Amino acid sequence: PSPATVDFTRLARGFALYGQCLGGQPYGNGHINDTYVVNFDQAGAPVRYIFQRINNRVFKNVPALMDNIRRVTAHAASQAAKLGGGDVSRRALTLIPAHDGRPCLTDEHGGFWRCYLFIEKARTYDIVETPAHAREAARAFGNFQRLLTGLPGARLHETIPDFHNTRRRYENLMRAVNADPLNRAAAVRAEIDFARQNEPLVDVLAKLHASGEIPERVTHNDTKFNNVMLDDDTHTGVCVIDLDTVMPGLALHDFGDMVRSATNSAAEDEPDLSKVSMRMPVYEGLVEGYLAAAGDFLTGAERAHLALSGRVITFEIGLRFLTDHIEGDVYFKTKRPGHNLDRARNQFALVRDIDARQSEMESVAGRLFKEPAPPAPAP
Ligand code: ADP
Ligand code: MG
Ligand code: MG
Repeated sequence: PSPATVDFTRLARGFALYGQCLGGQPYGNGHINDTYVVNFDQAGAPVRYIFQRINNRVFKNVPALMDNIRRVTAHAASQAAKLGGGDVSRRALTLIPAHDGRPCLTDEHGGFWRCYLFIEKARTYDIVETPAHAREAARAFGNFQRLLTGLPGARLHETIPDFHNTRRRYENLMRAVNADPLNRAAAVRAEIDFARQNEPLVDVLAKLHASGEIPERVTHNDTKFNNVMLDDDTHTGVCVIDLDTVMPGLALHDFGDMVRSATNSAAEDEPDLSKVSMRMPVYEGLVEGYLAAAGDFLTGAERAHLALSGRVITFEIGLRFLTDHIEGDVYFKTKRPGHNLDRARNQFALVRDIDARQSEMESVAGRLFKEPAPPAPAP
């Protein structure tokens, strides 16, 4: 339904929030959910909230997803409160439950709605323009992982199974190449060959995990710049939002996707590959911010593989775009013929550039992170 048909007053009555509903408008640039700002009057004082209709075509198991978000937001807030230092409601997303305690409501059309405190005096930005942007985004995602290191209770629901199973992504490509339903494979031999040559990349993170060198953690899984709120005045990272894909995962999945999405000097679908490169100052900003927040709880193996993670995740997403192109653009939305192929080529060009600068990138973490000195021996 269009915004005009959303009955915010009726929805608002279901949530445990302040004030009288004045109405809502579409808000922000999200591509997945329908997001609204909803205004309220609380005895003359203005209050506003974010209402979101959850995209249940993308997320098939909304109760599991909301169970993850309920636990993650509650734990992040309690940890932020323990750490002290300012307004907790700005440092962790606050989910407003329904009156009956449920984390979301259903409407008469079968839609699922949730409500968050509106984070004031902060906003999201779509494009990483400076190393400082990269640093603040990575710091925010590092802090988010930090707040969740001790999440009690059962393992979170794996709401999208095999999300970063890179081996599985590779096999899906090979299956698509063999089936070749639209006879597109012949024209993309070079890209398929590139995928084959880089096959060894697909197991590296899984092997590090299997050998016990890198642990499973709570990860965000959508670490794009526009999922971090930056303070309007200080431009520092305030809080991470968009928790739909929070799941068990590897820290390097999150960091690798930051590298993929933030360092590219061109848009993800830029067809002119001469414009695609890894912006080293942006990469340095990412490492600096991430290690400032997460450096002391990450394992040595995690810190040692930050550069590699960018290469792996960029390759993984390239595999997915190429697979979708060969299968006939069934998963990612396209705006022009060959759009997914452009995206795949773009990602693979970024992999090449990361590859060429791998040793330079590896030296960055060593330069920026100094192991804390061991405690002095007792006298
Ligand atoms: P999507 O999954 O569709 O990307 P998001 O959860 O990222 O949805 O929300 C879309 C936009 O709404 C964000 O980019 C941000 O600008 C805004 N937004 C989301 N949550 C809040 C909040 N709690 N306070 C203020 N703005 C928010
Ligand atoms: Mg978002
Ligand atoms: Mg999202």
